[in-house]
Amino acid sequence: MPKLTLRMGRAEVQAALADYADPRVKAYRAHNCERVHRTYTAMSRCLWPNGVLEGSGTGPYALVWWFDQWPTITLHDTADTALAKLTDTERQLEWMGEGHLNNRHHKVVRLILPTTAK
Ligand SMILES: [Zn+2]
Repeated sequence: MPKLTLRMGRAEVQAALADYADPRVKAYRAHNCERVHRTYTAMSRCLWPNGVLEGSGTGPYALVWWFDQWPTITLHDTADTALAKLTDTERQLEWMGEGHLNNRHHKVVRLILPTTAK
């Protein structure tokens, strides 16, 4: 966590938190690809070619969760909404039982654009 003190104003606290990387969120920039991506949607299609992109989100935080062999991806504007959705999804999958649940870890990934061509 960043250092926060009682004397900080609201704006200062927000600035300190803006750079804070949640340890549960991994950042992806470079991947094994020669193309330049300009949208998070394009980048996530490239990262997870067999993934199912769900919802209408276009933000930089990708929630990736595995059901059978295919990852389902939703894009979120903030890490908080992605992590909240992750918690919801895990609870739901637990409730449904382990039947179709893939062993891979579900995760939240921060996508960094633009990717650069090699
Ligand atoms: Zn790519």
